[in-house]
Amino acid sequence: ALTAGIVGLPNVGKSTLFNAITQAGAESANYPFCTIDPNVGIVEVPDHRLNKLTELVKPKKTVPTTFEFTDIAGIVKGASKGEGLGNKFLSHIREVDAICQVVRCFADDNITHVAGKVDPISDIETINLELILADMESVEKRISRVEKLAKQKDKDAAAEFEVLAMLRDAFEAEKPARSVDFTEEQIKIARQLHLLTIKPVLYVANVGEDDVADPSSNEYVQLVRDYASKENAEVIVICAKIESEIAELDGEEKEMFLSELGIQESGLDQLIRKAYSLLGLATYFTAGVQEVRAWTFRKGMKAPQCAGIIHSDFERGFIRAETVHYDDLLANGSMTAAKEAGKVRLEGKEYEVKDGDVIHFRFNV
Ligand code: GDP
Repeated sequence: ALTAGIVGLPNVGKSTLFNAITQAGAESANYPFCTIDPNVGIVEVPDHRLNKLTELVKPKKTVPTTFEFTDIAGIVKGASKGEGLGNKFLSHIREVDAICQVVRCFADDNITHVAGKVDPISDIETINLELILADMESVEKRISRVEKLAKQKDKDAAAEFEVLAMLRDAFEAEKPARSVDFTEEQIKIARQLHLLTIKPVLYVANVGEDDVADPSSNEYVQLVRDYASKENAEVIVICAKIESEIAELDGEEKEMFLSELGIQESGLDQLIRKAYSLLGLATYFTAGVQEVRAWTFRKGMKAPQCAGIIHSDFERGFIRAETVHYDDLLANGSMTAAKEAGKVRLEGKEYEVKDGDVIHFRFNV
């Protein structure tokens, strides 16, 4: 499964947030199939469409799809030089598919800041610099191998060398790989280098309790937003402390608490949704009387591959995908009505599944 890693300097609120994540996972359901790894938190992906489908189909059971966060502790200055837990930290980041960087945007004199004062941009740069230095090392190693071949007019080597040189320039300017303007072809080459700074990033601005309802009044948040927009990264604002309180509440209590705070969606739910889309993930549904269920797939996947997410037999014996889009199903009020309206399609092997498709797979066993 794809996973997003939570990183940040000490005392910025990572553990508070991660506890909220594991708590929310534990509250919403239990996942007996999951191995108990204390560094992995599994949460349900909030999706109002699943509730609507449940009302419509009235199944015996409803199953949301899930998403994993990994807690990556231990960044220190000098990580790229292997200081402290440095190497371990970097290898953990290498394993995740996206990075959620928690940034301290709350002032609280009782809580020490490692750098002496609250300064979100300097915090971000501290972490990013370690990652850039580690990437620089990878790129330089690679350059020393490829440069010669490139000069001998090896076409592939020349193309790679160009990408490497662009990366080196970016790193020298302390810019991450994700900020480089590559062509589609170049991106493919760059991806093969398994760089840390090419991974998508979401900055999680952790604000104090008083700023949740109106984060624009927090000057730190604005700084983070400006910074993120320059490097193709996204920002969400949360208050980790409040999230850990929300995570202990269930449905109705949670909604009441949120409306008291003057917010619509919990920060954790936003974080889940953003991390999900950051990874290019989408959801399709199966809707039968036994079970209505949401399934995660990668955008661009075709029908047989999506069937394979449910069971490998479904992919092997794939015949067709009886497909109706959620919007069409809802607009018509029932599967039968949607069929009569000609909204249910029989899709074949080449069909690219869309977010919100409701699918019944037909297959040979
Ligand atoms: P970590 O070192 O990044 O894992 O940070 P922790 O989650 O342990 O948080 C460090 C301290 O900051 C703890 O005392 C938390 O209670 C406090 N803290 C975390 N989030 C918030 C917040 O949103 N507001 C306030 N006032 N304190 C917070």
